[in-house]
Amino acid sequence: MSFLEKNINQALNAHEKGRRNMEYSPDSREVGRVLSLARGVAQVDGLTSVRSEELILLGNGIPGMALDLLPNSIGVALLGSNTGLRSGDEAVASGTVLSVPVGDNLIGRIVDPLGNPLDGGPVPETYETRTVESEAPPILMRAPVDTPMASGIKVIDTLIPIGRGQRELILGDRQTGKTSIALDVILNQKQGDVVCVYCAIGQRGASVARVIDTLRNHGAMDYTFAVVVEGDAPSGMQYVAPYAATSMAEYFMEQGKDVLIVYDDLTRHAQAYRQLSLLMRRPPGREAFPGDIFYIHSRLLERSTRLKPEHGGGTLTALPIVETEAQNISAYIPTNLISITDGQIYLSPVLFQKGMLPAIDVGKSVSRVGGRAQPKAYRKVSGDLRLTYSQFQELEAFARFGTRLDKDTRSRIDHGLRVRELLKQNRFSPLTAARQIVILWTVSLGLLDDIELERISEVQDYLLARMDDNFELMNQLVQADADDAIWDELEKSVVLHMRKWREADAAA
Ligand code: ATP
Ligand code: MG
Repeated sequence: MSFLEKNINQALNAHEKGRRNMEYSPDSREVGRVLSLARGVAQVDGLTSVRSEELILLGNGIPGMALDLLPNSIGVALLGSNTGLRSGDEAVASGTVLSVPVGDNLIGRIVDPLGNPLDGGPVPETYETRTVESEAPPILMRAPVDTPMASGIKVIDTLIPIGRGQRELILGDRQTGKTSIALDVILNQKQGDVVCVYCAIGQRGASVARVIDTLRNHGAMDYTFAVVVEGDAPSGMQYVAPYAATSMAEYFMEQGKDVLIVYDDLTRHAQAYRQLSLLMRRPPGREAFPGDIFYIHSRLLERSTRLKPEHGGGTLTALPIVETEAQNISAYIPTNLISITDGQIYLSPVLFQKGMLPAIDVGKSVSRVGGRAQPKAYRKVSGDLRLTYSQFQELEAFARFGTRLDKDTRSRIDHGLRVRELLKQNRFSPLTAARQIVILWTVSLGLLDDIELERISEVQDYLLARMDDNFELMNQLVQADADDAIWDELEKSVVLHMRKWREADAAA
């Protein structure tokens, strides 16, 4: 056994613990030579029968992925630090496409894209592998989205509802609450049956640590795992991260489970891929991104879907995050992603500064398929809400010019202000569907129009506390067969509670 062979076997054993199917066998391999090295990319020659995305081992076992298959050489993206590697070193084709370990034991863990633990724990015990890239389920295996993925956030569940199997983009400038929205959706799955995956790409270690802490502190790691690659990792690692995380998620989907995956964020992913491509001397296109950047993201997001019942009925819901610059949603990567996904949630820095949190710009946000999955009860409140709210926004802009307003306009603005106040929501405070509907129904009945804005949240808490006692009604409200009698009862009871609140308030 040559030195290289021994080293590779050692490296493989350490990396893989014998649980993956990429056993190195001397007859299946070809040995090439590293021609040149640059920032995480190696050019290798002498490997003639390599497949795209094949695992290549360089030097003493540094893993890499074949990305660029040229007639005389191949471009390999390194998936580890290149210390010690130099041109002239041997390169061995492993004969297998890059795969990752998948399995139930990933839940609760933090791993890198190759499945190595980052949380100080042992290597997660897994018995299967999946290739990092895999073909998206064909159309014939897919079913239309029809089950809600409740976010617990009023404005999303009412106006931009997400369904299981949908791909909903979250976009906005820096520090506008993108990650917070995704985290809230994960936290809201606590009582449910959804497996969540948080894939952090190219962020600072401190930000990722904060997210993981939040997940831990809220007990979300019981059903979540994180796939993390930090900003200083080789571009190749950042590039494979979302594909690897998706493969790990697909394992659960294929068992018929509902899975939610968050890619935080694809801007960094696109930048990593741009860096790889430029180093491989591919011709740069718009914004210096390579021509296939659209395809890179579409083939990732195509893997999210809802499978037909005869194929297990599992779903994979994707919440890709993308960062915009100076609110420019028509930049290259954001427009690509908007066209790939089934809708977007746009976060506005202007709303954020005004303290309107979550800073979701309802006018620029849409969910193209989630409406079908939205529980019926929401329809009673959402249509009216959307209309009055958008009218209000126009009137408000108009009123700013100091125009004298007639009574009708004034009252619409007052109503809109209350709606907006009620759509505010702190992070980590998800509401159940029934509680959301109680609040929104109360405001659409106009029962809050004379309450001072500063006291709206107080009234909301009061109402919810009272209504929670009315357990049965709350339950019936979200049943598919809720009829008018139930809505009448709801109306009666909120009117009653509001009257009590007013009386108590007047007495105080
Ligand atoms: P980055 O661009 O750095 O990734 P981001 O867009 O992901 O930022 P977050 O990190 O989610 O933004 O949030 C930015 C800040 O806003 C955080 O400090 C968070 O506490 C605060 N924040 C976000 N949403 C809310 C909310 N609904 N209520 C209160 N504070 C919020
Ligand atoms: Mg973030």
